[in-house]
Amino acid sequence: MQHVDQEKHLDATERLRALFAPDGPLKAYFPRFQLREDQLNLALNIMAQLRSGSGQLVVEAGTGTGKSLAYLAAAYCAEKRVLISTGTLALQDQLFQKDLPDFFAALSAAGEQPPNVVLMKGRSNYLCQHRLATHAPGLPLMEEGGVDEMAQLISWSEVTDTGDKAEAPFMSENSFLWRELDARSETCLGRKCPDYKGCFVTRLRDRAQEADWVIVNHALLCADRMLRMQSQKPGHDSWEEQSFGQILPDVDAWIIDEAHLLEEIASRQFGFQISSQGFGRLHRECEKHKALLGATTQTSLAGFFESMQLSFWTMLHPWSPDSHQPEGQLLADVYEDFQRRDFHHDFQTAFKGVMDAIKEMQNNVAADDELLTVEIGNLEKRAARIWSEMDFTLSDKGLELGFVSYGQPEDDHINLICAPVDVSQVLQNAFWNSPRAFVLTSASISVANKLAPFCRRVGLFHPETPSTELQTELYQSPFDFQGRCGLYCPEGMPAPDHPDFIYRYDDEVMDLIDLSSGGAFLLFTSYRAMSAAKDRLSHRFLLRGIRVLVQGEKPKMTLLSLFKQESEQGPVVLMATHSFWMGVDVQGKALRLVVMDRLPFKPPVEPLQRAKSQWLRRQNRSPFNELALPQAAQILKQGAGRLMRHAEDAGIVAIMDGRLSSKGYGKTLKRSLPPFKALRSMQECQSFWYEVVSPALDLPLPQDQLI
Ligand code: SF4
Repeated sequence: MQHVDQEKHLDATERLRALFAPDGPLKAYFPRFQLREDQLNLALNIMAQLRSGSGQLVVEAGTGTGKSLAYLAAAYCAEKRVLISTGTLALQDQLFQKDLPDFFAALSAAGEQPPNVVLMKGRSNYLCQHRLATHAPGLPLMEEGGVDEMAQLISWSEVTDTGDKAEAPFMSENSFLWRELDARSETCLGRKCPDYKGCFVTRLRDRAQEADWVIVNHALLCADRMLRMQSQKPGHDSWEEQSFGQILPDVDAWIIDEAHLLEEIASRQFGFQISSQGFGRLHRECEKHKALLGATTQTSLAGFFESMQLSFWTMLHPWSPDSHQPEGQLLADVYEDFQRRDFHHDFQTAFKGVMDAIKEMQNNVAADDELLTVEIGNLEKRAARIWSEMDFTLSDKGLELGFVSYGQPEDDHINLICAPVDVSQVLQNAFWNSPRAFVLTSASISVANKLAPFCRRVGLFHPETPSTELQTELYQSPFDFQGRCGLYCPEGMPAPDHPDFIYRYDDEVMDLIDLSSGGAFLLFTSYRAMSAAKDRLSHRFLLRGIRVLVQGEKPKMTLLSLFKQESEQGPVVLMATHSFWMGVDVQGKALRLVVMDRLPFKPPVEPLQRAKSQWLRRQNRSPFNELALPQAAQILKQGAGRLMRHAEDAGIVAIMDGRLSSKGYGKTLKRSLPPFKALRSMQECQSFWYEVVSPALDLPLPQDQLI
């Protein structure tokens, strides 16, 4: 990296201070930028950590602290090779397409040279040109719009620079076509591929090796670490050596943003998922090469796959939607040891048939046909991998290593999930033992202002052996929550399982919406609760001329744009579940009311949650205090955080769950929220609205708005 000459003498700290100075590049570029001591201190601490070369800094920075800008500026001045990980693909794209360009523009305007940055996602996000050329022509395009999608994909493939699915808006979310043609490692031919040099993945990997900063997501980050710990990963086999994860470049320091998502994503990534679709894909690929088989094996191949599918569906039937089994069961709860051994035997027999067939193909490939040799080799690795994972799940190996397994239906197929119950040790081995500097940050990782519970769950803190390398810091939001934002918990509100709850909920919600004239998010903890509320309230919305948007009717980003547009025309309400509790940013008067239906405790019958609770209980630890409550506090904070996205926002957050007031843990949850102005009655809400919110947002009086 280069800097303008006059600043060459400044050390990193001075350069960072200069960036944030009243006459510095940030102020010059961002007209609304104001120097805040907290943001500068946050940046200075992050930079010191990045430069230290070891240890971990866990830092919660409340909404509005300017966390992203702080760590970007810190990374820039630290002059280290840095990997920045965000929670999801959407957040990764937002960082890369919005926050980074803004920051770099400010640097460039000041004559600074921005670092060289590369965005990397998992391989299945990129198109495989070779499969598009060779595999696409034989694909059955039975999905509605499949032919059209294929035509658009071919045109797009000729002009795209990245092959990134996010840049192909015509692809449906769960596109069959994309799944068949993406660049996943299990079908990649590697260096033998005729398209290797021009391959999107190859070019991206080369660029990443040269980059100063690499932007990834937690799933890819965990996949990378898992591959580096191959010897410790159960079910591992060699096809993964080609995987994208392993080729994340080595860096000096890591910044893990949205760190509150790390634990959940690590549970998925350090375990595995076997899908009935995976069998189907493997079968289709084997059929393609059937000509390499003798007549007898050709006849029996389909039978092997059928018995594999049959055993799989039979085994997972208790988790299918039409089963009457109780929820939350684990494989070990449903089946006795001898039954698991029976399934193990059935799979082993079917897999042996498939493996023998693939070996026969390998024997019949012409010695000089390198491409076909790799393709059949990939089939063998895929089949071996599925088998090793089934073996791990159905034998005692998984249980002995603290993994649990269960079924999970999804659309028209079913998945077998195998996950570690406790990720703290895995994360410690995968990340924290590495001699690198780590920064973990988020707006919501504390519970009642304590960071220790989070640190313990992700393996950073052990009460018996506290690490000297761990530092923690909390930065409160600079927003004036007391002065601009009310928290309404209706007095005497029943708990959600009380028969009167829905009547009281409906009346309270309608009164609040009348007060706010729309501009509301109604957030729910389940689809069922959302649909039921929609059915009950739709006629009342209709009578008032309120436009209602409901999650699932349109893609998330479309719904958000509609919400913003429609709020300029008249009253609008958005009803949504989990994915709108976080990562949603609507600034200004468009969003002025957020109502959460109940405290967001994860269902105790969710299989992994249940297994984690049992595991904690066995260690004489409290599943409620160490698992359920911290999770709920984090999600509640995220949900409440939707309202105040900017210093000038204002409004009311309402939590319609009587337990917040009636239960002892309600105090802990309230302490985890920003310091809102407490509102106990509708009358207090009205006063707050007229005296604070209306003038703050320059709203007309509510009576003038609605019928
Ligand atoms: S190298 Fe692999 S991912 Fe890239 S085009 Fe070839 S087969 Fe596809």
